[in-house]
Amino acid sequence: MIRIDVKTTNHTQMLDITRRVQEAVTASGVRDGICMVFVPHTTAAVTINENADPDVVRDFTREIGKIVPWEDGYHHMEGNSAAHLKSSMIGFSEQLIIEGGRLVLGTWQGIYFCEYDGPRSRKVYVKILEG
Ligand code: ZN
Repeated sequence: MIRIDVKTTNHTQMLDITRRVQEAVTASGVRDGICMVFVPHTTAAVTINENADPDVVRDFTREIGKIVPWEDGYHHMEGNSAAHLKSSMIGFSEQLIIEGGRLVLGTWQGIYFCEYDGPRSRKVYVKILEG
């Protein structure tokens, strides 16, 4: 298992980690297989989406904030229920195909670490299986 350290700088943020995941794949030497990306946090997530137009990330972040408002009479004492909800909605893992030593992604796709209660120091685990 490979660990990627991520430092977020905003309360809510989507960070493109595609290059770092690819580096993990390259370092593993695996040419064909599966790459699993897992976020071991309850107020962060991982997703795949467009990395060409930064407005997509901006819209994504704004709209999910409308779906799950930060204040809404939640009971959780820590005061970050919205972050917990968003994390489960977006999800904690992604699986990618590795072919010829490269992650198989669509032309406009990138892997994003999603922060919902930052800024914090975060971890992403990458597991690479050959086959
Ligand atoms: Zn909490």
